[in-house]
Amino acid sequence: MQHEAVDGIVIRVKDYGEHDRYLTVLTQGGRIPLLSKGSRSMRGAQMAVSQLYTYGNFEYYRKGTAVPILKGGSALQPFYGLATDLEKLNLAAYFCDLAYELSDEGEDVGELLRLLLNALYAVSFDRYPPELVKAALEFRLSAISGYAPDLTACHRCGSTDAAGYYLDVMNGALICESCLRATDRQPAPPEDPAGIGALCPLSPSGLAALRYLLSSPVERVFSFSLSDEDERAAFCKAAETYLLSHLGRGFDSLDFYHSIKG
Ligand SMILES: [Zn+2]
Repeated sequence: MQHEAVDGIVIRVKDYGEHDRYLTVLTQGGRIPLLSKGSRSMRGAQMAVSQLYTYGNFEYYRKGTAVPILKGGSALQPFYGLATDLEKLNLAAYFCDLAYELSDEGEDVGELLRLLLNALYAVSFDRYPPELVKAALEFRLSAISGYAPDLTACHRCGSTDAAGYYLDVMNGALICESCLRATDRQPAPPEDPAGIGALCPLSPSGLAALRYLLSSPVERVFSFSLSDEDERAAFCKAAETYLLSHLGRGFDSLDFYHSIKG
């Protein structure tokens, strides 16, 4: 038997039988599955680290090729703030679904882990507006996935001082208002709002925020503000559309989040 310990966040929980539970833990070295025996019956030393969204140190052992067994551990950062608010809880579920989608076993995901941890912290402790945390995470995860938009200039005419820009989702680039008018493409998103053909309006401060969050260190990625309500809504819409279009899928947790927000 081989004993190991690792820090990580529980991003998925699946009940198994009457007493046990399978955990998926996101660690620096990728996702690991763990079997937490007895954690459903509220006993066992591993109880404290067998809850969804817990950031903790996980002690486990491997036996052959079976799923490693959780032996115990300690919670490094519980996110109690998430449990008190349905909107926050659903947002956390969506963040973890994204982390699952963008990770694999045995693959270094250090930046993803730190982004997820900071996002859960920011939402749980009301450090920043939740919808902006979500948007920043979505844009930053797009970049991690290899779809960072080119924000230097309009990709058709090269202008850097246009009055207004759109984020051209398909091309991962900016297009200015006058170039857009010269094409037959419509600024309004197509029937499928998460469609790859979407063009999302970006205000000057939205564009500045996007440039900031894509280049800032992970620990400062949420340190920006957008005070105007319409501007903020457009920015959040662009972030979600951009990431989902490039991932080519949606998430039930995201649908729940929107239904709760009304
Ligand atoms: Zn242009």
